[in-house]
Amino acid sequence: MLYERLKPAIDKVLGFHIKNAPGVIMGVYMVDYAYELLDSIYPDRDSYTLNAISETRVCLIDSIQVMTGCTVGNKYMRLDALDIGRYALVLYNRDSSVGFRVYMDLAKIDAEKYPQLFAFFNKSRDYKSASRSKLSEETINEFYRAERSVLSFQKVKVDLPAKDDIVPAAVCGVCGESFLVSSETDVNTPICNYCRRAANKEFVPYRATE
Ligand SMILES: [Zn+2]
Repeated sequence: MLYERLKPAIDKVLGFHIKNAPGVIMGVYMVDYAYELLDSIYPDRDSYTLNAISETRVCLIDSIQVMTGCTVGNKYMRLDALDIGRYALVLYNRDSSVGFRVYMDLAKIDAEKYPQLFAFFNKSRDYKSASRSKLSEETINEFYRAERSVLSFQKVKVDLPAKDDIVPAAVCGVCGESFLVSSETDVNTPICNYCRRAANKEFVPYRATE
């Protein structure tokens, strides 16, 4: 049972995530597994820079951020490297580019033994059969029985630049705020994308109001 050891991490990530979510708990087990694999070849965690790739934007990413300190903000979390919605992560040594990918292995989820877990990942949950929270609870309980038996891993070599290029900034001629220059920016008369869209009557996510 990994549960006793992982309970503090589960509580911490659920507190960060705010919502109770099966994916967060699975994420804790996945990160823990990837860390253990990485420890087997790089036992000293302080001797290298850890980076992470999250292949999904949902729950799992919070487990990675809280447990590893690889965040979107410090860019050790490479969220856009493979943003395809697979329930998988890679933890790797940025100095050697070698690491491990851990993923939810659907072939290992026995539909009879773990019906809710199976439905959760095969998108066949029956919301008419029980409340969403009841289904989530059953999914979590099944995962606690399964633990690592439904996960698989691959050793990987990562092919990403250690650091992204630094994007130049400019001051918008309309709002006067500093913004990051994009391919659409006219460098001679810089206007930020918000002001450009607003001027063209295109969609903007918010407008100032009273
Ligand atoms: Zn502007």
